[in-house]
Formats: sequence, structure tokens, C-alpha cells
Amino acid sequence: MTHSVQQTDAAINAVTSWSDDDWNTILKGAVRSVEDLAEYLGFTSVPHNWHNSTDFPIRVPHPYLRRIERRNPDDPLLLQVVPLADEAFTSESFSDDPLGESKFSVGRGILQKYQKRVLVISAPACAVHCRYCFRRNFPYEEHRIVRPNQQLKMIENDPTIEEVILSGGDPLMLSDSKFRSVLNFLDAIPHVRRIRIHTRLPVVIPQRITSELREMLGEVGAKVLIVMHFNHANEIDAEVSSALAMLYKDGIPIFNQSVLLKRVNDSVDALVSLSETLFDNHVIPYYLHLLDRVNGTSHFEVEESVSSKIYSEVQAQLPGYLVPKLVREIPGAPAKQLQLI
Ligand SMILES: *Cc1c(COP(=O)(O)O)cnc(C)c1O
Ligand code: SF4
Repeated sequence: MTHSVQQTDAAINAVTSWSDDDWNTILKGAVRSVEDLAEYLGFTSVPHNWHNSTDFPIRVPHPYLRRIERRNPDDPLLLQVVPLADEAFTSESFSDDPLGESKFSVGRGILQKYQKRVLVISAPACAVHCRYCFRRNFPYEEHRIVRPNQQLKMIENDPTIEEVILSGGDPLMLSDSKFRSVLNFLDAIPHVRRIRIHTRLPVVIPQRITSELREMLGEVGAKVLIVMHFNHANEIDAEVSSALAMLYKDGIPIFNQSVLLKRVNDSVDALVSLSETLFDNHVIPYYLHLLDRVNGTSHFEVEESVSSKIYSEVQAQLPGYLVPKLVREIPGAPAKQLQLI
């Protein structure tokens, strides 16, 4: 076996290094119509069940597109990003704000549902528009952080808060200088022990792990941890591997949360392979979320009897530390609710 330090360096060096600006250019060049998507993937015409959504438009950056199999309408990565006609389907148990998030706002841009930790809507946008997103109808403009030093004051004033979760949207959509000012502000608060970053940006644009970002994370005195959002092993290619190896080398604990999605990862093989591939890349599986019932996503829902069956077989095949906790979010509950199988 190769030594793991060598393996990490090899993963980093396997990819030509990127400059600190590349991610912005890549973001600007993201595909924004089903016509461009179909052309890029080699379809002769736009498949009949794809449509251009107006309220939550398609957005897919190229590093992610490259991992999608050409001319395969069932590709598990494609299905996460392509708006299907199914999104128009409405169902009684689905709504615009199934988690009642607006009720948990404790200040502009800040949500608190659980003890000792708050979630900050750090940026109003994402690099990719995941079709199953529970925040697809979230009024970001009303909630986002515009002036960190004023808006984050409530965290400074509440000594019970030990952990701040930077979420969004995606916090890494902020420029390095804005991100630095948020980090510095939080890091100066003595009772903030941990700063957690919830992000999908390194999954879709691994070039976001810039030297400047790495440097600023290294300067934070509080413990920094990252929770990524991978749903399928095919989302990890050499570029992503390289970005994860950099973070690992910098000593940052990396976890992963996934959503159980019909036709994307609703099989024992897909979930086992995801956990194993994550661990090969220094990432610990954390949560496997059952879908939040937000309008436009009912075609992603996996029936509970099916999810239980898949999950018990995943438990049987993996060591305990590679089994993510199966959870559902219930508005008003004191924590994410563990689903006992
Ligand atoms: C999910 C969530 C958290 C994080 O919960 P953990 O169980 O600590 O991962 C914190 N705040 C809010 C508002 C959340 O939705
Ligand atoms: S990156 Fe996260 S918040 Fe953004 S669209 Fe995807 S699931 Fe939603």
C-alpha cells in the first residue's frame, strides 16, 4: 500500500493547479438552459420531459457537467440538475416551506432551531440549482446577510451559541474577501468554539478551494469543519479528489450529508459506493436525509418502506463509521429526527 501522505500529495498533484480566479470564470460560464445542456451532452434534440424552469432556473457549471454520461437521460448526476416536467406536479403533502423555516429566524439572515448553534444564511445563491432543494422557494433577499458586523451581533450577544453554521445558499459563493470578513468577525467572539461550513461548491466547482481560501481557513482560531453535499460516487472525479485532499492536508475535518433521491441514489450499491468513495477521499458520512416535502420535488421521494429496506442492507454491508445517520427534519423538533429502522 502507498503511504497516505504520498497518496494525498499524488491526488493534489494529479490535477494541474488552478488559480484563485478560475472558479469565478467557471461559475459565469455555467449552463443556463436545457437547450445548451442537451447540446453539451450530445442529445440531438431536447428530451421531451425537460423544460426551462422560470422560478428556479437550471444552473450547472462545467466541471460537474463533465462527470455526466453523454446521451444518458437517466444519469444520476444529470437527474439532480435537469428541470423535468414532473416539477409541475403538485401534491397535498408538499408545500413551499415544509420546514417552516421563516418561523425560526432570530434576526435577519440567522436561523436558530437547535440549542447552542445557529445557522447563518451567508450568501443568497448557489453554484448549482439542485432540483430537490428544500430552499428552492426561500426568500433569500429578505434574509440574507448584508452587513455582517451588524447582523451577526446577536451571536456576539448570546453566550449560549457555541457553533455557527455558515450555510445559504452556499457560503462559498461569497468572494474570498467577504468570506474573510465573516470568518474574522465570528472568530473574534470568545464563545464561538466551532465554525461549520455547509457547502456544495467544492462538489460542483472544486476550483473554489483556492490558496487564499485555504490560507484564511488556516488562520481561524476556532475549530473549522466542513460539511459537503455529495449524493453519488460519480460526483467525485480527480479534480474533486484533489480539492478534498487539500482540505485534508490542511487538517480540516470533512463530513458529508446526502439526500435520498429516487433514481439518483435509491439503491444499496449507490449508497455503499458513495460512503466508500467518500472515505477514500477523507470524508466521513454524516447524514442521509429523507426528502423535505417541498413543492416541485415529489418525483424524488422514496417510499418509506423502500428507504428502510435499502438502509438496513447498507448497514449490513458497511462498517458502522461509514453508515450515515438516516434522518428526517420535523419542524419544531429539538434535533434532526433519527429514523429508527
Ligand atoms: C440542520 C440544521 C442545523 C444543524 O444540525 P446538526 O444536527 O447539528 O447538523 C442547525 N441549524 C439549523 C437551522 C438547521 O436546519
Ligand atoms: S447547493 Fe444546497 S442550497 Fe444550493 S440548490 Fe443545491 S441543495 Fe439547495
